[in-house]
Amino acid sequence: MKYLSTRGGADQPRLPFSDILLEGLAPDGGLYLPESYPALDAATLASWRTLLAEQGYAALAAEVLALYIDDIPAEDLRAICARAYSADAFGSDAVVGVTDLAGGVLLGHLSNGPTAAFKDMAMQLLGELFAYELDRRDQTLTIVGATSGDTGSAAEYAMLGKRRVRVFMLTPAGRMTPFQQAQMFSIDDPSIVNLAVEGVFDDCQDLVKELNADLAFKAAHSVGAVNSINWARLVAQVVYYIALYLQATTHEGERVGFAVPTGNFGNICAGHIAREMGLPIDTLVLATNENNVLAEFFATGVYRVRGTAETHETSSPSMDISKASNFERFVFDLLGRDADAVRDLFAVRVPGEGRFDLSGTDAFAALGERFGFVAGSSTHADRLATIAAEASRSGTVIDPHTADGVKVARDLLEADALTPPVIVLETALPVKFSATIVEALGHDVERPAKFAGIEDLPRHVLDLPADVDALKRLIEAH
Ligand SMILES: *Cc1c(COP(=O)(O)O)cnc(C)c1O
Repeated sequence: MKYLSTRGGADQPRLPFSDILLEGLAPDGGLYLPESYPALDAATLASWRTLLAEQGYAALAAEVLALYIDDIPAEDLRAICARAYSADAFGSDAVVGVTDLAGGVLLGHLSNGPTAAFKDMAMQLLGELFAYELDRRDQTLTIVGATSGDTGSAAEYAMLGKRRVRVFMLTPAGRMTPFQQAQMFSIDDPSIVNLAVEGVFDDCQDLVKELNADLAFKAAHSVGAVNSINWARLVAQVVYYIALYLQATTHEGERVGFAVPTGNFGNICAGHIAREMGLPIDTLVLATNENNVLAEFFATGVYRVRGTAETHETSSPSMDISKASNFERFVFDLLGRDADAVRDLFAVRVPGEGRFDLSGTDAFAALGERFGFVAGSSTHADRLATIAAEASRSGTVIDPHTADGVKVARDLLEADALTPPVIVLETALPVKFSATIVEALGHDVERPAKFAGIEDLPRHVLDLPADVDALKRLIEAH
C-alpha cells in the first residue's frame, strides 16, 4: 500500500506508510491518502466478528491496520495494537461499546480512554507507532502543539513514557475547563511540558505556526506535530467504525447509520473511508454546532471558511472550527480523485476568495446517493434540551458534543430522512464539561473513579508570553 497527496499529480512519488507517519502535510500542501481503499467483504467481516468477540479490540485493530500498513511486520503491528488498546488504558478488552438510547438511536462509546474523549482512540495508537518508528530510525522527535483542551491532553497521555519524544503543549491561559487543565497539568514527566500562553487558542496556534516557519530551528530540534491531518490518526479511527458495527449488529447483511459530532472532519472522514471499504453504512450524519461551515456545504454546495471573529465560542468547544482541516480528503474522493481540481479549490480559491462553490456540479448531486452524507446543526439551547431529554428517557448523561450528534440524528429520524438504527458517536464523557451538564440537569454527573480529585494534584505548567522567541528559548533550554 502506497500513499499519495490530494494535490499531487500522477508523476508525484508515492510513499510507504512509515514515510508519512512522522509527517504532517505533504510537501505540496496536500493531505496523504492511500492509493485505493482495500475492499471489505462479508466473509472478512464475519471472521472479524468472531475475532473481536474472542480476542478483543486490539486484535481487530491489527487486522484492519495491516490492510493499510505493509512496511511494519504483522507481528510488530499486533504488539503495537496490544500496547495501544490495553484494558488498562480503556477499561476493558472490548475498548468500545454500544448501548441503546431508544427510538432507533444507539450510543457508540469511544471515550473510555485515559482522557475521556474519543481522541484517545487515535492518539494512543499514534504514540505507540511513533515510539516504534523512532526506535527503528534511531531518531528523536519534539512535538510542539496547541490545544484548546481535548487534543493536547490526549497527545500528552499517548506520549507519556515514550523516551524518544518530548512534548511542548501550548494552552490558552485560564481558558480550558478546570477538569481539562487538571488532566494536563497534573502530568509529572520531564519530557512533557505544559505551557500557559497569555492569549486565546488562536494565539497559541499562531506561535506554533511561526515556530514551524523557522525551518532551521525545526530541523535542528526535529520538530513535529500530532495534528488531526495525520493519516495514522485517521486509519486508527476506521477501526472503531468496524468494531461498533460488529457490536451493533448480529449478521453481515445489516445496515446502520452513524451520526458524528464534527469539527475538523477527522472522525467522519474515517467513517467515509470505512463506507468506501464496504462496511454496510447507509448514512453518515454530519452534526455541527453553531459553527456550521460544514453543514452549510452539505446543504448548499458552498464551502465558506470563517475568520476568527466569525467563529463562535460554544458549549461544544471542540467543534468550534472556522475551517475543517480534513475536509480536503473527502473532496478529493468526491471529485473522483482529481488532484488538479483539489489544488485549485484548496490552494487557490480558499486562500484567495475564502470559499468555493460546487453547487450545480454532478459531484455535489452525488453527495447523498453515492457517499451517504446528510448534515445538520444544533445550538446551545438544543444541547441543553437534548442532554436533559436523554437523561430522562434512558438515564444516560451525554456530553455537549455528543448531544449535537443525538439532536441532529433524532431530527432526521423524525422527518423520516434517516433509517434506523443510527449509532451516535460519543466523542467525550460529560465529566469533562460539567458546567454545561449542571446547566442542563441542575446537577453534576457522577465522576468516574479514575478522575477523582485530579484538581487537587500539584500543577506542572510554565507561563509563556505570546512570543515565538521565548518559545524557542524554552525549547532549547529543555
Ligand atoms: C475533536 C472533537 C470533536 C470533533 O472531531 P473532528 O474529528 O475534529 O471532526 C468532537 N467532539 C469532541 C469531544 C472532540 O474532542
